[in-house]
Amino acid sequence: MAKFLSVVVSVYNEEASLKEFYAETKKQLTGLPGSWDHEILFVNDGSQDGSFSILRELAGQDPHVKLIHFSRNFGHEAAMIAGIDYAQGDGIICMDADLQHPPECIPQIVGRFDEGYEVISMVRTRNQTAGFVKNIASAAFYRLINWMSEVQFEPNASDFFAVSREAADVLRKDYREKVRFLRGYVQSIGFQRTVIPYEARARFAGESKYSLKSLFRLSVNTILCFSDLPLKLGIYSGCVVALFGVIVMIYTISTWARSGTPSGYATIVVLLSFMFAMLFVIVGIIGEYIAILFAELKDRPVYIVRSTENMPEYKKHISDRSGAEIPPQNPEQK
Ligand code: UDP
Ligand code: MG
Repeated sequence: MAKFLSVVVSVYNEEASLKEFYAETKKQLTGLPGSWDHEILFVNDGSQDGSFSILRELAGQDPHVKLIHFSRNFGHEAAMIAGIDYAQGDGIICMDADLQHPPECIPQIVGRFDEGYEVISMVRTRNQTAGFVKNIASAAFYRLINWMSEVQFEPNASDFFAVSREAADVLRKDYREKVRFLRGYVQSIGFQRTVIPYEARARFAGESKYSLKSLFRLSVNTILCFSDLPLKLGIYSGCVVALFGVIVMIYTISTWARSGTPSGYATIVVLLSFMFAMLFVIVGIIGEYIAILFAELKDRPVYIVRSTENMPEYKKHISDRSGAEIPPQNPEQK
């Protein structure tokens, strides 16, 4: 039975890498076993450089190349989500356009699909470009989240992963959160899952679009999404402080009983500052959760599609609202 593979590629200002990415990926895709047909679905995430015209050129040459243009930059995760929404494949692979995710892995992934696996996580064995600080920060983050969350995350799992049509349907319909961690969902939905190690290449050209600041924001959001431990911090610290208060009270009464003067002003100032600092931190944490609730309540679209190319089956202007307008699968390609 013929099968269909979708390669979803998020693109933001990648003019220098796109042609090389296409050439290498196409080579792997044409070498796949005859039962596999393919599409390469580029999601242009509001690029401001020449990526748009290069993508159009590729789409003009090759009908297997499909394009989704966002109305502005919505971020890497939104681009992957859109790609998964629109992909027609029985198997869907998400990759970066900068060639850090080697296209040589594609045949191996397809082999796992053929064996019946439905979720394939690609795990980096070595990251040539991330730099010392990013590597340490990433290791610390995974330790923390694995400790705090019931879901166990694969350290070094990347945005390079593959899902079957059934697993993708779960992501399309049931994981439409506005504040999210797609990689985490992929690891937590179950299905027949396997891991393939790979060696991340150096970026082909250009620079990483993730600053340390945006990675920090992503990490905080992930913790808030996958754990309610921060919310319980208030209760735990309340108990600790109450105990501490009792100890201070006993100490104060005993000094008063012995010398007639209770302990002094400095103690009060230190304790007050300490208590208020803790209180504000807890209020801040609650604020973060309220911000997430607010984002969900507003229900703004995860992404807005301005136009598509080589995808005649879709309306020109489609926005995603809670998955309600996700276009139907094209029956011809099943
Ligand atoms: N990307 C995107 N939108 C963004 C930022 C990045 O679509 O707002 C794409 C980018 O073009 C690349 C992938 O996401 O294909 C990963 O980005 P990057 O290489 O900058 O991240 P890193 O590999 O350093 O984590
Ligand atoms: Mg990269």
